[in-house]
Amino acid sequence: MPPHATSTIPVTHRVAGIVSVGDELTLGQTLDTNGRWVAQRLTDAGLVTIEHVTVPDDLDAQVAAFRRLAQVADLIVCTGGLGPTADDLTREALARAMDDTLVEDPIALAQIESFYAARSRVMNASNRAQALRPSRGATLANHNGTAPGLHGQIVTREGQRERACDVFCLPGPPRELFPMFEQNVLARLSLPAGRTVRTRVLHTFGLAESELAQRLGALMDRDAIAKGRPMVGTTASGGVVSVRLRYEGSATPETAAAMLDECESQVRDAAGVYLFGGGSDTLASVVLSMLRQANQKMGVVESCTGGLLGGMLTDIPGSSAVFAGGLITYTNALKTLLAGVPSGNFSAGAVGAVSRETAEAMAIGGLRTLGVDHALAITGIAGPEGATPAKPVGLVWIARASASGLAAPDVDCRAFQMTGDRASVREWAAKTGLAMLWQHLAGVPAMKLLRQV
Ligand code: AMP
Ligand code: MG
Repeated sequence: MPPHATSTIPVTHRVAGIVSVGDELTLGQTLDTNGRWVAQRLTDAGLVTIEHVTVPDDLDAQVAAFRRLAQVADLIVCTGGLGPTADDLTREALARAMDDTLVEDPIALAQIESFYAARSRVMNASNRAQALRPSRGATLANHNGTAPGLHGQIVTREGQRERACDVFCLPGPPRELFPMFEQNVLARLSLPAGRTVRTRVLHTFGLAESELAQRLGALMDRDAIAKGRPMVGTTASGGVVSVRLRYEGSATPETAAAMLDECESQVRDAAGVYLFGGGSDTLASVVLSMLRQANQKMGVVESCTGGLLGGMLTDIPGSSAVFAGGLITYTNALKTLLAGVPSGNFSAGAVGAVSRETAEAMAIGGLRTLGVDHALAITGIAGPEGATPAKPVGLVWIARASASGLAAPDVDCRAFQMTGDRASVREWAAKTGLAMLWQHLAGVPAMKLLRQV
């Protein structure tokens, strides 16, 4: 635990509660992504999060949440409400829940002053409030903003016994929260002795979750933990179906790691060519790193995704080494002008913009115009308008063209019937394009992907 004016009670951290603070959250204007991020980290570290509480910028609500959770949890992680304004009440709420008062912390004040001095900015009088902490608590340095974090303990009596709950209050902005959580919370967790928790995650694309579950079969035994084996579960999100592996038990860390290795290889066998990565990998990051290794470049020609695919690729730092750029050819005229699609494709009664011929011509045109080794082209009907009897909403043609060294490029073109609204049709289309390029680069057979017709 951090240095304190008074000593703290040692706590073994098993059970956690998360408090997210802010009117913007309770009013539905901002999504509580901090709660999710913190819960993921705590789960990975081996804690069980029993509750997420979202409260407005209201002192009583915040104090009540702290007090109630402190009776059932060993750890509370609170985010938000540490700013300098009158609606930032986390400092006061923590002090009240601790039956304590606020004092000014001279070290925290000096840090806030130097934060402003380093940026040649004038410190507001209200920023001084950010140096307050409960008298029996401690401040936690923030290197990316002015608000220090806070640590304190809420002590409740259980008969003769005192039980303490560690409370960490961290700033709401994610770029301040993330490093402070790693440095101050994760580093100071005290887990029960003799208990090992190890998790791993693998990602697949192109299989329905139910089909993946069928392939995994007995690996998904819900009683695995009780039987001393890793538990396997699946989660689908934005087209990617992830497989979570989790060992929790009394094995040594080495044995636990060996069990996860064994379990991972069984999952890999079951998922086959649909498994593209693990951990923080995304389809885009995996494709980019394969291209980097092959010293090749790629580009995109997008119609219905309007730059979404290029966006997914350029979200990845360092993508410029591999991603040359793209053409957004939304109109027929630009498909012809920039990608060289024959204008005859668009004549009355001809194949039209959403067709195998146009997708292939877009990809081949992209290969030439962008001077890349691989081009992905997407043309489809994202909806809700634009459908015809022969071409329903969600119909998307995706083509990959790769320079083959021969006169004609190597082309793979497929049709998909996507489901859902405009946003999900576009997201699936972009990811499916990446999956097609991944299959090519990985040298695996071009297996049918989900929603391919
Ligand atoms: P605060 O620390 O309460 O001043 O929060 C400052 C900013 O952090 C807010 O305007 C949000 O943009 C962001 N933020 C606060 N809490 C959350 C949360 N639970 N999830 C995502 N963003 C948040
Ligand atoms: Mg706030």
